[in-house]
Amino acid sequence: MGGTFDPIHHGHLVAASEVANRFDLDEVVFVPTGVPWQKSGKTVSAAEDRYLMTVIATASNPRFSVSRADIDRGKMTYTVDTLRDLREHYPDADLYFITGADALANILTWQDWSELFELAKFVGVSRPGFELNIDHLAEHLRDYPADAVTMIEIPALAISSSECRRRASEGRPVWYLVPDGVVQYISKRHLYVPEANGKVAG
Ligand code: ATP
Ligand code: MG
Repeated sequence: MGGTFDPIHHGHLVAASEVANRFDLDEVVFVPTGVPWQKSGKTVSAAEDRYLMTVIATASNPRFSVSRADIDRGKMTYTVDTLRDLREHYPDADLYFITGADALANILTWQDWSELFELAKFVGVSRPGFELNIDHLAEHLRDYPADAVTMIEIPALAISSSECRRRASEGRPVWYLVPDGVVQYISKRHLYVPEANGKVAG
């Protein structure tokens, strides 16, 4: 599952858990983006902060892990590169790429989109406020197996990282929207605070 994870929240975790259960996956690898191409121009938190929040959020689940592949590539992140790296790392695995309905809706604009479906099966999960519809993809996927893209309904959590950032920047709570350790990490690192200028010794 790729994402900016700025910050990771319970919507991401429920999506991963649901897909793992439905497809009987051995492992879900969370891959925080390096430089997210779709978010260029927007300010994104430091990769190490997003990576550490993802580690904190997933640490208690033995089937969840975090990959640094996109962060360490040091270039703009394209999912096709993520999947090529995962394929190299797990040569014999059946790969599934988990994505929310909003992200899946514009998959045809992703770099080398046709190769994506050769590298992995795609699972689109429902997300409040976005339509779970792949009719527009059907024509383009005619030459691919029927399970190239599967859509599944998951418990609706109307949580987004943008809203978590907005809340944190306004001093409003993010408790219960993100895991407890992530709440504490955000506060400890003064993430999303407009002018964080604490005094540091050391
Ligand atoms: P932002 O508001 O900054 O775009 P986000 O909440 O959309 O953040 P991303 O890191 O952009 O989080 O998303 C990573 C993946 O998780 C995407 O495929 C996205 O569609 C999916 N996703 C995010 N939030 C949810 C949610 N509440 N329910 C289902 N899928 C989600
Ligand atoms: Mg998003």
